[in-house]
Amino acid sequence: MTENKTTEEAGKKYEYSFDYIQKKLEGKRDSYGMLMKEIVRSGICTECGTCAAVCPVLEWDHLAGQPKLTGKCTGCGICYNQCPRTITDPLQLIGEFKSGYVANTNIPEVIGGQDGGTVTSILCYLFDEHLIDAAIVTMKNPNNPWHPVAQIVSSKDDAIKAAGSIYCHSQTVDALMEAVREDYRSIAFVGTPCNIDAVNKMFNSPAGMLKYFMRANILTIGLFCMDSFAPEALYPYFKKDGIDLEKVKKMDINKGKFHIYYDEDDDPVKSYTIKSLDKFKSSSCNFCTDLTAENADISIGSVGSGANKNTVFARTGIGAEILEDAGKKGYLTIEPFDAINLNAVFFLAKLKKVTQYNIQKRKVFIVRDTDQEEEEPRIESAKEEGMGDMRPIIDSRRALSLKKDVNEANKTLDISITNTIGFILEDLKIRVASVDDVFEKNVWVTKIKELFPYENVEIEYPLEQEDGELKLGKVLIEASTESFGKIYSKSYDLTPKK
Ligand SMILES: Cc1cc2nc3c(=O)[nH]c(=O)nc-3n(C[C@H](O)[C@H](O)[C@H](O)COP(=O)(O)OP(=O)(O)OC[C@H]3O[C@@H](n4cnc5c(N)ncnc54)[C@H](O)[C@@H]3O)c2cc1C
Ligand code: SF4
Ligand code: SF4
Ligand code: SF4
Repeated sequence: MTENKTTEEAGKKYEYSFDYIQKKLEGKRDSYGMLMKEIVRSGICTECGTCAAVCPVLEWDHLAGQPKLTGKCTGCGICYNQCPRTITDPLQLIGEFKSGYVANTNIPEVIGGQDGGTVTSILCYLFDEHLIDAAIVTMKNPNNPWHPVAQIVSSKDDAIKAAGSIYCHSQTVDALMEAVREDYRSIAFVGTPCNIDAVNKMFNSPAGMLKYFMRANILTIGLFCMDSFAPEALYPYFKKDGIDLEKVKKMDINKGKFHIYYDEDDDPVKSYTIKSLDKFKSSSCNFCTDLTAENADISIGSVGSGANKNTVFARTGIGAEILEDAGKKGYLTIEPFDAINLNAVFFLAKLKKVTQYNIQKRKVFIVRDTDQEEEEPRIESAKEEGMGDMRPIIDSRRALSLKKDVNEANKTLDISITNTIGFILEDLKIRVASVDDVFEKNVWVTKIKELFPYENVEIEYPLEQEDGELKLGKVLIEASTESFGKIYSKSYDLTPKK
């Protein structure tokens, strides 16, 4: 066998492997864009060159010290999945668990809890079955609205009074130690992942305070947690915005928005993007990587399970037994967790894990008004001389994929644009306008320095209103780049269908 033939065969084998892994990764979002955004741009790339070594269209740019695209990226995600710095194993994202459920309460007094009322229902079950003699919960301070106070409760009725989330740090361990000192023996402890970690450390570290205290049995119920806020900064901001904290019945974080309700059954009285509240976030939360309370006996959240339901992970034997029995005895409705729903949990968990890289996540580009005259779009599909393979003829129908959604609460058209062309789009200009007959109004423009293949950008375009009501009509969305000219232009009729 000649040397050439050996190389040729080896090359073929390599292609087979590449194709095989490509198929395996089909449908995943990981790609070169994610690699650049999460690892290279954030400065945690070790310059090992693995990404460039595995992909035929990536090479190592020695000058810039980073991988460089030399051809069309298919978005297969192979580079992302080899990189030693990415998180690609689901268990790395949400921790180990025995069983996953979607759950909601069957107790009438608990309906209207934060989400599905699962936490409170488990506490009710534990009290009724005499499995605990106290629970550590967090309630609203009666003298200081919406400020959290950690409490020991020793009855089902008091546990029900504690339902609902307060998005601030609560000194739950203080109440736990008080309960231990008061000689409570079996305690259910409800807390955020950082609270759960504190209890675990006290149990497991060589000098842990609870390690040698054999008389306390503690069942840990962890709440999913993306972030919490400093009340001394957040609440004055709400007050300045006209919100009467005394009247607030519920606060809720859902799909990147913080909602405030005066009436739980009504629309929120005010909604904020989480990004706009970032400055009030507790600094500790910027360094936190645990969304799903990975060290709890039972972890409970809302993401991934829809309105008035909870996503639940039973992580220990006792956690699983308690959930199953509470379900059997009618406190809860529990259904096995669906793999499709898990994707939402993975997505959020990953956002949280990569905060350790200090990337500004939840990137929302707020479009700006512009007085500048729009330049004429260049001719579509022009291949400029000297551009080589990196500047192909653009098929404008395939350059970008776009999703849009009228956000009634926020009075915006939420637009999500993904670069599907396989090349980096530089100086991408996105232009959105309302169209009245042939006239354009309310023209908004945003510019993005570079959009990597399969990276997406979120835009919130403020919709016209009349007497506080949305005025829905035609909207034109266009995108262009310096080198390719106009690559997207489509008008959408948002008028509600009768
Ligand atoms: C700061 C914070 C951030 C959160 N972020 C997310 C998120 O990003 N995604 C997600 O899916 N879920 C999040 N959650 C969890 C979510 O809000 C619900 O607590 C969870 O879905 C359980 O709902 P439930 O209906 O079973 O709760 P309920 O039955 O209403 O019971 C809620 C329990 O939480 C306790 N509690 C309330 N506030 C606190 C607090 N500050 N610290 C400790 N315990 C408290 C109460 O004592 C009560 O026992 C967060 C919760 C908190 C407190
Ligand atoms: S995602 Fe793009 S750059 Fe990464 S391996 Fe696949 S083709 Fe190459
Ligand atoms: S594989 Fe990851 S760490 Fe290695 S060079 Fe590529 S981006 Fe950097
Ligand atoms: S984000 Fe982390 S540190 Fe912040 S409250 Fe939640 S669990 Fe605690």
